[in-house]
Amino acid sequence: MTTSIAADAIQPLALPSSAPPMRVLAAEDNPVFQSMLRTMLTKWGYLPVIARSGTEAWRVLESEDAPRLAVLDWMMPGMDGVEICRRVRDANREPYIYILLLTARTESQDLIKGMDAGADDYLTKPFNAHELRVRLHAGRRILDLQEELLKAREALREQATHDGLTGLLNRSSILEGLDDEISRAARSNQPVSVIMADLDRFKLVNDTHGHVAGDAVLREAALRLKSSARRYDSVGRYGGEEFLIVLPGCDAAAAVAQAKRMRDAIAATPFLTPSEPLLVTASLGVSCSSHCPPEYLVHQADEALYAAKAGGRNRVVAPFVTPGLTGC
Ligand code: GH3
Ligand code: MG
Ligand code: MG
Ligand code: MG
Repeated sequence: MTTSIAADAIQPLALPSSAPPMRVLAAEDNPVFQSMLRTMLTKWGYLPVIARSGTEAWRVLESEDAPRLAVLDWMMPGMDGVEICRRVRDANREPYIYILLLTARTESQDLIKGMDAGADDYLTKPFNAHELRVRLHAGRRILDLQEELLKAREALREQATHDGLTGLLNRSSILEGLDDEISRAARSNQPVSVIMADLDRFKLVNDTHGHVAGDAVLREAALRLKSSARRYDSVGRYGGEEFLIVLPGCDAAAAVAQAKRMRDAIAATPFLTPSEPLLVTASLGVSCSSHCPPEYLVHQADEALYAAKAGGRNRVVAPFVTPGLTGC
């Protein structure tokens, strides 16, 4: 065996002390290579996870918290490295697993087969330790880039679906959620309720205390609505000081009771603002159905909301006399 470990290749990596060592799967059936990989990876600041066969390696890689960097021997009992690559890529999981194949084969046809199966890089045995180290570094850089991309994508998704001021679902997302719930309700013949809530005389808050205080009231109102909603209800900002709450599986009577809890949660205690504590109230309109189109439900809740305003504000109105389902 001619694998060389140059002295400078086994210096520990200068990792920030707070960063936990990165786990690397080292799948190798040859005990000598196995122990060599373990020693090198440890010295370079990685946490080696050793697999002694292809089957063992696959078990590790298909597990929930699989290492994101893998060094796979090509020839192993149970399953070869190429087959593992293929399975990992077929599973198409996130985050990405970077795979470096170790092979004793040098024929280009074989290497093409390995790369085709989804390997990111390869090293022919006997390999040079320094080369392995820099290739692991390269893999790690790619994984870091991928993580940044995932974070950026997640941030974009959050921005596109949530309201920047209150953190609630935005108008299009809450309406999309309502669409989904109505489809589900139609299939299961379960009711869906909608509450439209609007802060009372909110313009006066802005006019008297300024927009910063107005924004603080909106944030706090959102928090109170969200805290008083059930876990499976969705709360969204429908417009300026209007909120739409979707209550799956909730019949009319339960929705009215929920709306009253929300009204109380708003009115109960003064809102702290940069200006002064302010008493705020809200009017709420409720609608319920298991089969009406979403626009109709929203329209009904909106009509009920107007009735609540006309009736003196700080109240709940539902467009049905007795608890039951509205027709459309
Ligand atoms: P009503 O009881 O009839 O609902 O009266 P209102 O004053 O609440 O209703 P109106 O529609 O007259 O005023 C709503 C105000 O909400 C006007 C608008 O400037 C304010 N508003 C909308 N979006 C925001 C926001 O993001 N921040 C702040 N500070 N104010 C907002
Ligand atoms: Mg082998
Ligand atoms: Mg209002
Ligand atoms: Mg309004």
